[in-house]
Amino acid sequence: MNVKQIYMDADALLDGHFKLSSGNHSQFYLQSAKVLENPKTAKLLADELALQIKASGLEIDTVCAPALGGLIAGFALAQALDVRFIFAERVEGVMNIRRGFEVSKGEKVLMCEDIITTGGSAMEAASVVKELGGEIVGVAALANRGFCKRENSDVETKPNCKLPQDIPFFALADFTFKMYAPDACPLCKDGSEAIKPGSRGN
Ligand code: ZN
Repeated sequence: MNVKQIYMDADALLDGHFKLSSGNHSQFYLQSAKVLENPKTAKLLADELALQIKASGLEIDTVCAPALGGLIAGFALAQALDVRFIFAERVEGVMNIRRGFEVSKGEKVLMCEDIITTGGSAMEAASVVKELGGEIVGVAALANRGFCKRENSDVETKPNCKLPQDIPFFALADFTFKMYAPDACPLCKDGSEAIKPGSRGN
């Protein structure tokens, strides 16, 4: 499966000159939600990710996603794995599990995101699952920004990766883009102006 092509076809992988939320510039930008706009594509990607997870033999009772980013990917993955789906959400900045969702003691939970950058939100949600007695058995994402090493990839873990190293991390592809400080950006030097993705008001 050519995951990058699927992202490009869905306008989820943008090629241009972008100003990232970190303030750095990049030639590429991932607009993850766009690849899930078509439910058939969402299913295709989740099915492929589920195959990889099933092949590993990992036992999973439940998929848990941090809202909002992980909701669609998490739901589609839970469907493909035929397990329960719950989500965590921020209430006044603090990650919580609400809405009557329960986690039983020893329940094997796979955390799922649409994209893993450093894995911060996934791990915040994971700590809530653990407080409730759940066991985090792995992490999954459709796309990996390349800061954390996933299964079946040579991309090494960077120091800012927040995912634990003792559980598997599954993703379909690594999207490792070069990022530049604004004063060292070759695209700026070429005279173009960086735009903030989503700045058209959507
Ligand atoms: Zn630039």
